[in-house]
Amino acid sequence: MEWIDEFLRARKEKSLLRSLRSIEKAWEGKVLIRGKELLNFSSNDYLGLSSHPSLLEESRRMQELYGTSSSASRLMSGDLSIHHLLEELVAEFKGKPAALTFGSGYLANVGIIPALCGKEDVIFSDQLNHTSIIDGVLLSGARRFPFRHNSPQHLSELLKEQRSKFKKALVVIETIYSMDGDRAAMKEIVDLKEEYDAILMVDEAHATGIFGPNGAGVVEEEGLIERVDIIMGTFGKALGSYGAYVAAGSKVISYLVNKARSLIYSTALPPSVVGANIASIKLIRDEPFRRRILLENAGYFGDLLKERGFDVRGSSQIVPVVVGENKETIKVANRLQEEGIFALPIRYPTVPEGQARIRFSVTYHHSKETLQRVVEALEGALRLSPK
Ligand code: PMP
Repeated sequence: MEWIDEFLRARKEKSLLRSLRSIEKAWEGKVLIRGKELLNFSSNDYLGLSSHPSLLEESRRMQELYGTSSSASRLMSGDLSIHHLLEELVAEFKGKPAALTFGSGYLANVGIIPALCGKEDVIFSDQLNHTSIIDGVLLSGARRFPFRHNSPQHLSELLKEQRSKFKKALVVIETIYSMDGDRAAMKEIVDLKEEYDAILMVDEAHATGIFGPNGAGVVEEEGLIERVDIIMGTFGKALGSYGAYVAAGSKVISYLVNKARSLIYSTALPPSVVGANIASIKLIRDEPFRRRILLENAGYFGDLLKERGFDVRGSSQIVPVVVGENKETIKVANRLQEEGIFALPIRYPTVPEGQARIRFSVTYHHSKETLQRVVEALEGALRLSPK
């Protein structure tokens, strides 16, 4: 096992060694780590729903009715009526004819993409797409063409060169990118997919619950629901729970039930999780004030950082501040932690080399006063950490 020592040593030398940290408590935008209370800027619980009484109550109720497990995959005996109820709600919420739930977002992406494409097909994937998409593309065995991040121009060049050489073509993007917090150039990409007869799949993991008049995401906000073929998203972020879904035409959903291996060969979501998911979709619809306040505060935070000269990315609740090198970024994150702010450094290979950053996930529980305090702490942390 010496190769493991070697691996760990190499990671440490490059300031790339990762380790787990145990969180003792998490509540209202805060966490308790080793007895110290910290403001939590590393959570995807954007709307603070994970501790909402409706989710807790519905989760408990479903667990009492159906037990702690669904005990089998959907195609065996794990297919509960509440999975269907949840899928009907998702389809309605997303404005698509049908929907299907998966164990997680990772499982959804590694299940859907290989179900859609194989060796004779081609996939065009944004360079900053999440690892679950990249892994789905690799598993599919299709020819891959990554395009420059959020560049319809580059996508257009690739489609022009490559499209006609393959049977099916799939374009995969995120609507809000997880590491840069920026928004996809949706309209141009939708036009291209139609021009070149490609399927368009979007990952709305970081947009669902936050954007759009009903909180359904960027696709809804931009009026493109009918023109996007496949919309996936997760319940583990703004929806405050766990699991994932895909919304699409009924034929696509029936096809995925028969082809998506991560659905067919994996235990269905447990009843308690389904309960929380159902409650959270209803809350998103009924309580738009949460997303309004969140986006207003995140905009305030980004503007304040820019005013003070920081290299800020994004146009959403994800506000990354680029520091540069791995080591320095870790130092800044550690200093912030000493100041009671938990914001994780994101390093290569998650982001390009030399662009390590502190990624702030603003949530509903972070007030303007809190955000102002964070900007001051960040200024202090950078002053103390010369390049
Ligand atoms: N897609 C994107 C864009 C994500 O950011 C994530 C999670 N970080 C996933 C998919 C995977 O979702 P899950 O955590 O539910 O597996």
